[in-house]
Amino acid sequence: MKSKVSIVRCSSYQEGLVHESVRRAIDLIGGITNFIKPQSRVLVKPNLLMAKPPSAGIDTHPEIVRSVVKILKKIGCEVFVGDGPSVWGNQIENVDLVYEVSGVKQVCQDEGAALVKFEKKIWKKNFPFTSWVDTSDCIINLPKFKTHDFTLLTGAIKNLFGLIPGTYKTELHKNYFDPKDFSKILVDIYEEIRPCLTIVDGIVAMEGDGPATSGKLRNLNLLLASSDCVALDSILALIMGVAPLDILTNKEALGRNLGQAQLDSIEILGEELRDVMGEPFMLPSTSLIRKIPRPALKLAKKLIRYYPYLEAKNCLHCQACIEACPFQAISMKKEKINFNYSKCSACFCCQEACPAQAIKVKRNLFAKMIGL
Ligand code: SF4
Ligand code: SF4
Repeated sequence: MKSKVSIVRCSSYQEGLVHESVRRAIDLIGGITNFIKPQSRVLVKPNLLMAKPPSAGIDTHPEIVRSVVKILKKIGCEVFVGDGPSVWGNQIENVDLVYEVSGVKQVCQDEGAALVKFEKKIWKKNFPFTSWVDTSDCIINLPKFKTHDFTLLTGAIKNLFGLIPGTYKTELHKNYFDPKDFSKILVDIYEEIRPCLTIVDGIVAMEGDGPATSGKLRNLNLLLASSDCVALDSILALIMGVAPLDILTNKEALGRNLGQAQLDSIEILGEELRDVMGEPFMLPSTSLIRKIPRPALKLAKKLIRYYPYLEAKNCLHCQACIEACPFQAISMKKEKINFNYSKCSACFCCQEACPAQAIKVKRNLFAKMIGL
């Protein structure tokens, strides 16, 4: 059977418009009760990466959360909203501040949803998940559509990484620093925790060096919904201008029969895909390796390297990058950030943590020589 993905246009984050559009996105694929039983306990999981206001376009917009809470409340559900924001090294982003600044706290207060923290863990399939995955009957996944320096796309499957609380996320980054291995971990998580429904915030998406302050915002004016995260991420890939199976999580998940990645296995409802595919997204600097012909790729991967470097004029000396680095490859000397490239794994956690666009990506000499 084909997986259903709805695509709905929504031109702004105005409350009424978002509500109408979210409702339509859900109705197109069968309506809320097709996925959630009335009176259920539901965990709503937005992407709350860092303490930035909605205008920064980094976190899932609070109006999407509001709309979903309202829809759930209308069918008598008990609603919990939470995320495990980023962990910079051993320092966990201040969750209270993230909830406050992102606007999600206010929405929960307005709509009578419980804002929860991912403090208690339960182990499932070798991962410590937030215990809220067991407390709830089902999960609604609310990712933000963004490019990602490490995984190329952060969408439906990647957003579930936030269900792992605290510093264990750093351990995973440390132990699975190859994007292919890391993608397998993300799919392990998806295999264990399958959201009933995913709604993607693509009203303002992000391209370039996402997923944080170094990315560029793009007004896409779209909401997408599905119960199949693989199908959703495949459609996001196509909108980005990337083949679905070039997203490593899609390839891995398809191989495990966890969803559909081929267009002929996906039924698109609402807008036509060709009508919403504009100019291809500007991809992260680290993805330029895609220009290399396949036969040369294996050798090139060994020779091409990307590194973070400091744009000193932007640096606030906050040291968030030092805390973020899982490999202790960054230090501060004489008021200047220094990278120890012999320790660097090119995970770009530092760039994600930097609040000031002060960390850019540079190529090694070989990459420059071959024009990447
Ligand atoms: S310095 Fe290298 S290893 Fe450390 S966070 Fe940045 S990219 Fe990752
Ligand atoms: S590079 Fe960014 S994260 Fe690091 S100290 Fe400077 S502003 Fe802070």
